[in-house]
Order: sequence, then C-alpha cells, then structure tokens
Amino acid sequence: MEPGSGSGTDPPDPGASEGPPTAAAGAGEGSSSAAPLSRYESQKRRDWNTFLQYLKNHKPPLSLTRCSGAHVIEFLKYLDQFGKTKVHVTGCAYFGQPNPPEPCGCPLKQAWGSLDALIGRLRAAYEENGGRSESNPFGDKAVRIYLREVREGQGKARGIAYGKKKRKRRRPAAGEGSSRGEGSTGEGGGSVGGATA
Ligand SMILES: [Zn+2]
Repeated sequence: MEPGSGSGTDPPDPGASEGPPTAAAGAGEGSSSAAPLSRYESQKRRDWNTFLQYLKNHKPPLSLTRCSGAHVIEFLKYLDQFGKTKVHVTGCAYFGQPNPPEPCGCPLKQAWGSLDALIGRLRAAYEENGGRSESNPFGDKAVRIYLREVREGQGKARGIAYGKKKRKRRRPAAGEGSSRGEGSTGEGGGSVGGATA
C-alpha cells in the first residue's frame, strides 16, 4: 500500500486534521471504477490501514481477532506522539488557559475530538470488514471511559468545556456547595462536570 511512503518511520496520519484539509487528495487514484470516495470514507480507509499496520508492528504481533479495548487504548496513546494539540500539565502556568500568551514546553497530543472521531470511523470499519459488533473492540466500554477521561482532562488543561450542550446548565443556587462554576476566579480550572462517578 502507500507507494512512495518508503522508509519505515513515517508517522501515520490518523484523523490528524484539526482543521479541514484544504488540499483535497484524490487527484490521482481515480483509476478504480467506482465513484471517488467521500472524504469520510477515504479517511476511514486510511485509519483502518493505519490500525492494521499498528497491529502488524505490535510486539508481540497482534491479530485483529485478539484485539481488545485495552489494545485500542494503547493505540490511541501511541498516536499521541503525532498529535498537534498542546495539553498543559498541571504545573504549567497556562494550565486551564485557552489562549496562552507564550509557548510552553507542555506535550502535544491528539485532540480529544480527533480521537473521538477516529474511534467512530474505526468502529464502523471494523464491522464493515467482517467484525462482529458484539466483539468490536472500538465499542468497548474501556475505550469509552478512556475517551471521556481524555475529554475531561483536555478540557481542564486547555480551558475548554466540551460537550456543554448535553448537560443542563444549572443555575448556581445560593446554597450549592462550593462550586462556583462560572466564577472565573481562576481556581481549579473550572468544574467540567466534576466527578460524576
Ligand atoms: Zn503548558
């Protein structure tokens, strides 16, 4: 596959697109009879190939049938090294700031939204390639939990509240504990949902 990508260590490109890619691919590969794949379909195919490649290079080798949710999480963590999203560590002065005034040395990771979309595509690809939905590792509960943790962690680190729409905004009532959610007094990095057990 991938002619020309040659020497070993090319980073894979999972949904690495944090913005819509402007240069549309597909000028070339039109020789196959069918209509050109949609952007989603071709991305899904690339993601699937990336994952298969990952399994192949896995030590010890891993087959798709033995792949579990834990392996999927391992894959997502592996992808972080190719990420482009700054996620501040708790000790960073810009922790919780959406727009830091200066660069810092915090690691770059895959944005939660990218991972979430990636999992959705791989989950579909798995079943399109003959996998049974009952054993779909991408639908595993552990994966869902991991993604939720990533979302909450990145939300705090980057000062972004993801998925606000799901949650009914509660009016801060007078007697409501110590959580002054909207206060922006700079403490605690905002309560994104708190610890919902
Ligand atoms: Zn930082």
